[in-house]
Amino acid sequence: MLDIRVEETAKLKEKPDQSALGFGKYYTDYMFEIDWDKDQGGWHDARIIPYAPLQIDPATMVLHYAQETFEGLKAYRNPEGKVQLFRPEMNAKRMQNSNKRLCMPYLEVEDFVQAVSALVEHEKDWIPTAPETSLYIRPFMFASEPGVGVHPAVSYKFLIILTPVGNYYPEGVAPVKIWIEDEYVRAVKGGTGFTKCGGNYAGSLKAQEKAEAHGYTQVLWLDGNEKKYVEEVGSMNIMFLIDDTVVTAPTEGTVLPGVTRDSMLTILRDWGYKVEERKLPVEELMTAGREGRLKEAWGTGTAAVISPVGELYFKGEEVVLNDFKTGPLTQKLYDTLTGIQWGKLPDPHNWIKVI
Ligand code: PMP
Repeated sequence: MLDIRVEETAKLKEKPDQSALGFGKYYTDYMFEIDWDKDQGGWHDARIIPYAPLQIDPATMVLHYAQETFEGLKAYRNPEGKVQLFRPEMNAKRMQNSNKRLCMPYLEVEDFVQAVSALVEHEKDWIPTAPETSLYIRPFMFASEPGVGVHPAVSYKFLIILTPVGNYYPEGVAPVKIWIEDEYVRAVKGGTGFTKCGGNYAGSLKAQEKAEAHGYTQVLWLDGNEKKYVEEVGSMNIMFLIDDTVVTAPTEGTVLPGVTRDSMLTILRDWGYKVEERKLPVEELMTAGREGRLKEAWGTGTAAVISPVGELYFKGEEVVLNDFKTGPLTQKLYDTLTGIQWGKLPDPHNWIKVI
C-alpha cells in the first residue's frame, strides 16, 4: 500500500472539446510520480503533482541505454457516471514482466493499481462523457541515474500521465491495409518481444515507414528467427478466422501478451468458437486468403480495441478480405468488448474495477 501525498495546483487547464479529442493531444492537470533508489531501500515518495516537464541530467541513463518500460490502459465512465478500469492488474503484471527482463525494479500489482486508481480518481473530471470516449492511462518507468557506464541503473522514476481520447474510429470501425514485412524483424527468441519497452518500438519504425510509403497502414511482423510465422501488428495482436477456427500467434516470448487479445480469446471460447493459439505459417495464411477460406482478420489492442483487416500484402501478392468490409465476427467482438468496457453489458468474468 503506497502512501500518496497530493500537491495541488492553483491553476487548472481548460478542458478540451469532447468532439475533437483525437488520441493523445491533451494531457490532464496532474501526474503520478514515485522514485526508486537502491541506496534509499527502494520505492519512496509517492506523489500526485501538477503535470509539468521533468528536469533530467544529460547523462541520465535512459537517454543512452534505453532502460524504459511502459503500459497503456483506459478509464471509462459507465452509464451511471461511475469511473471504471478494465483488468488493470493485467497491465501491472505485464509491466512486472517487462521490468524483470530489463533488470528494472517493479511495483507490486496492488501498488500499481492503487497508483492508477488514485490518479484517475483525482482527475475524474477529465474523463470525457461523450459516447465512445475514454481516458487513456500511460504508466511508464525509466532509469534516472546519471552515468555513462553500461549497467542496470541504481535509480528509477515511475510516472503515470493521462490523456482524454475520442473514439479511435470517429466514422465507425474501418478496415485497414496490412503490409507483411519480409525484411525487418521486431523480435527474436530470447529478446524483448514480450515486453513493452520503448526500444521495441524504436526498432519497428523503419518497417512502419516502409509500409506507409507503399500505401499500407500497419506492419504485420513475421518471427525474427525464420521469417516464416505471423506474429503481431505494430501495436496490436492479430487474429484470423480461417474456415471456422480463430487462429492467433502464441505468446511464447516474442509476442506482446495483449490484454485485449486475452479478453477476446476468452469471449470467443465462451461463444463456443474453436480457438487455436499456434504458429501460423505466412504461406498457410496467404493460401487460405487465396482460396477464400480466410473469412476475417482483425487486430486487437487497447487503443483501437479492434482493427479489421481489409487487405494483406506479402511479397507482391495482395489478398482482399471480406470485400474490404468489417466482418460480422469482428463487429460482434468489438460490440461485446466495448459494451463490457463502457459498462453497458454484463461483466461475467469480473474484468471491471469500479473506482
Ligand atoms: N502488441 C503490441 C506490440 C502492442 O504495443 C500492443 C498495445 N499494448 C498490443 C499488442 C496490444 O496489447 P493490449 O491489448 O494490452 O493493448
